[in-house]
Amino acid sequence: MIYFDNAATTKPYKEIIDIYNKVNSECWYNASSQYRYGTVAHNLFDKAIKLVERTLNLTNKKVVFTSSATEANNKAIYGICNKYKNQNKRIITTKYEHPSVLNCFKDLENYFDVKYLDILENGEINYSQLESFLNNDTVFVSIMYVNNIIGSINDINRILKLVRRFPRVKLHVDGVQGVGKIKLGFNIDDVDLLTASAHKNHGLKGTALLVYNKNLDLELIEQGSKQQLIKSGTIDLAGAVSCAKTFEIAFGELDQNVNNSYLIKKYIYNELCKNSNVHLNSSLNGGSPHILNFSYPGVNSETLMHYFESNDIYVSISSACSEKLARPEPVVLELTKNELYAKSSIRLSFSSDNTIDDAKKFIEVINKYKKVGKI
Ligand code: PLP
Repeated sequence: MIYFDNAATTKPYKEIIDIYNKVNSECWYNASSQYRYGTVAHNLFDKAIKLVERTLNLTNKKVVFTSSATEANNKAIYGICNKYKNQNKRIITTKYEHPSVLNCFKDLENYFDVKYLDILENGEINYSQLESFLNNDTVFVSIMYVNNIIGSINDINRILKLVRRFPRVKLHVDGVQGVGKIKLGFNIDDVDLLTASAHKNHGLKGTALLVYNKNLDLELIEQGSKQQLIKSGTIDLAGAVSCAKTFEIAFGELDQNVNNSYLIKKYIYNELCKNSNVHLNSSLNGGSPHILNFSYPGVNSETLMHYFESNDIYVSISSACSEKLARPEPVVLELTKNELYAKSSIRLSFSSDNTIDDAKKFIEVINKYKKVGKI
């Protein structure tokens, strides 16, 4: 099996599964209970928070473990924006955010003046448009770090320079495809809120986090017993510990994983370039090494995905979260303005589990398809 869909999810490390099981079987108590076992559990929880702070180099942030990046994004957006509802304030995001951000902004259109940033040809956001959108009425900006479909990387420091001209504006960064995947080009301490996900880094589904400024008060978006800052409900101790450990491992192995993904991406990129029919929707050096998106115009992406599947190779034709929705792929369409490219787009995403032999096999398989005149 060749699994090239690591932007959708990754295979959990055995060490992480073991930690999760150990905590759940040996320290299964409620971390909010007042007797000593509750204290033991809470101490372990505090240790998990400390580990995240050390790994992500945080000095001014609160850490909340969430059940998904979707939950973290929703908590960040509504947590800030609900305070300003119906005040005609401006909020800004991009046209190519993950639905867990974009759909929140769509929902908030009823209460805010919402602006959506265009994407430049290189897949980054339009920085001058951001400059022109920012004004004294702006209260919130949410911009992703690495795009999950094409792998482009936004310059968060450049965004910060623009946003900080307006002291009231809070900046949220969806760092799901960047944190643990690439060397960060900014300090997390410098942004107001950031989302990261463990299951994209060989951690477990159901484990993610939101970090936000210590001096920020977010509104609760669910009612219940508040046990973890802005999160209600019994603390998932095993999830928190395994999430913290996942990031520790991912940061420890970062350089080697980045190099591995880059070599695989470079090999496939260069081999694909030998075919004049191909259109590359990702750049080799400008974007994240773990994502490569390309199109064979005229070849339906679903057909090609199933052809790969029949060869035991697994790729994505869209963000897994919208896999069942109609084509064309919206981010590729936004980027290329070309329906043919958007309807034939394939995303490969790599991790430490992949090898250069996987890349060679992939090219062999695609060349076989080419030989029979299908592309
Ligand atoms: N943000 C980005 C950039 C993503 O790629 C994803 C998932 O692919 C999410 C948020 C949501 O993650 P989850 O589905 O784990 O909540």
